Amino acid sequence: MAMLPILEFPDPRLRIKAAPVDAARLADAWLQQLFDDMFETMYDAPGIGLAASQVDVHQRFMVIDVTDDKSRPLVFVNPQITTRQGEQVYQEGCLSVPGIYADVTRSDSITVEALDRHGQPFTLEADGVLAVCVQHEMDHLDGKLFVDYLSPLKREMVRKKLAKARKQTSAA
Ligand code: ZN
Repeated sequence: MAMLPILEFPDPRLRIKAAPVDAARLADAWLQQLFDDMFETMYDAPGIGLAASQVDVHQRFMVIDVTDDKSRPLVFVNPQITTRQGEQVYQEGCLSVPGIYADVTRSDSITVEALDRHGQPFTLEADGVLAVCVQHEMDHLDGKLFVDYLSPLKREMVRKKLAKARKQTSAA
């Protein structure tokens, strides 16, 4: 397995809209390896979700595990939200926007349909943090980041803060 570099805001590649996965490709060893590498990268970060877009692969899939003990790894290929209910506000972070957290309002409970890593269709009803995470990762596949929900002024502050943090890292 290998750790993957994660693209960081404001990298323009995070804005690319991902293309649907040809389900026949799920038989390819490289794609199965990529799922494993994405889990390893996400767990190491640590994070609870990682979209393919964040590792510069512009296809519609993502990995998620919201448990504390890595006990429920989920792969979503070509995910679609089919129902939404209610609203919740959750303080989100993102591996592509390190060190920044902000409240985002999203649907409270959702139904998502997707293929698993072997191409089997499944339907998942999610609420709480899992619902937040699914919506957050699906935004990545559309080239959208959680900072897009902030005001332009706040987003500019985030950009400056990250630029400064990167400068300090490279100087160290
Ligand atoms: Zn993210």
